[in-house]
Amino acid sequence: MSTYTTTRTGFVMPALSYSAGALSPVISQSTIECHYGKHLQTYVDNLNKLVANTEYEDYTLREIVKQAPPGPLFNNAGQVLNHSLYFEQFTPAAPAGNRPGGNLKEFIHFDFGNFENLKKKMEEACATLFGSGWVWLAQEESGKLTIVSCHNGDTPMRHRMTPLYGIDVWEHAYYLDYQNRRAEHVKRLWEIVDWEVVESRLEI
Ligand code: MN
Repeated sequence: MSTYTTTRTGFVMPALSYSAGALSPVISQSTIECHYGKHLQTYVDNLNKLVANTEYEDYTLREIVKQAPPGPLFNNAGQVLNHSLYFEQFTPAAPAGNRPGGNLKEFIHFDFGNFENLKKKMEEACATLFGSGWVWLAQEESGKLTIVSCHNGDTPMRHRMTPLYGIDVWEHAYYLDYQNRRAEHVKRLWEIVDWEVVESRLEI
């Protein structure tokens, strides 16, 4: 996993590998500008303010996510991690009929039967997560893939799992484009997933 970075001047924004409008119409330019440019920037800024002059100042992002007590520092660190993975996992160059291949396909078939069943289970988890949060395809320490629903800024890494593909179901992720139609947004996201990036997160 590549995009969350610490420098001597603090935590920094992950780079976007596509332009703000490139994922349109699945995710519009306005949503990327607001979600990446404003929401994520705020989480990064808050994280830097909250770690200053604390014992966590020299921790990596992963260490903070795993060890900080519940509260504002953990919430903002979790959101920086979640969003770094989120924005990295999409591509404007996904092919028609976009689907996982290689080792990831094998893992999905072993643990979910097939890709269609994984999609159905993740969509159900998104529909039933009440309030703000995330639904992740994640990997347990045993290697098994699982679907994890996380509230607010929580993240599978907090629970000794590896996050693979995350769906942000906070309203800020979809409201400009889909209003209240969370389910439609979640379904459209399959069109832009960069499955090579997701596969690169697998522990094999
Ligand atoms: Mn978000």
